[in-house]
Amino acid sequence: MHILVAGRDTKQLTDRDFVWTVEGELVMMPPDICDCPDCGCERSVVGLASSGASTMFQVIDHPAMTRDEYSQAFADGLARQGYEDVDAEAVADYHL
Ligand SMILES: [Zn+2]
Repeated sequence: MHILVAGRDTKQLTDRDFVWTVEGELVMMPPDICDCPDCGCERSVVGLASSGASTMFQVIDHPAMTRDEYSQAFADGLARQGYEDVDAEAVADYHL
């Protein structure tokens, strides 16, 4: 299964990048984008485990993760971040 995970290749960081995720954790596009021009949420992802943001992420082929595990990770991450009313399975599908 091809999934989005947080990266940490600091050699490619620019002064506009930030990495507040844990390397290898599943990430998603932010559920909300704010109006602040300096925030960076419009060009970053959110870690499902850490709830941190990052501009460094990559697609990997994860051979062991099942579809159910993937969907559950989104349900857990969204609930932990206060989005219990979001259709986690639809969000997970969007990221595949
Ligand atoms: Zn923002």
